[in-house]
Amino acid sequence: MKYICQTRCEGDKIYTKPDKCPECGMPLIAVQKDTDPVKENHDKHRVVPAS
Ligand SMILES: [Zn+2]
Repeated sequence: MKYICQTRCEGDKIYTKPDKCPECGMPLIAVQKDTDPVKENHDKHRVVPAS
């Protein structure tokens, strides 16, 4: 798991432990690596065309 600063005060700097940001003191948040932005949603195929 990777963690980043909530406020991105250090850009995309990545931390390896769920700690607090050394710069701004905000808690780090986990980065979900397996998030797939192009995941297929088959439910969208069920849209009924207006006719
Ligand atoms: Zn920060």
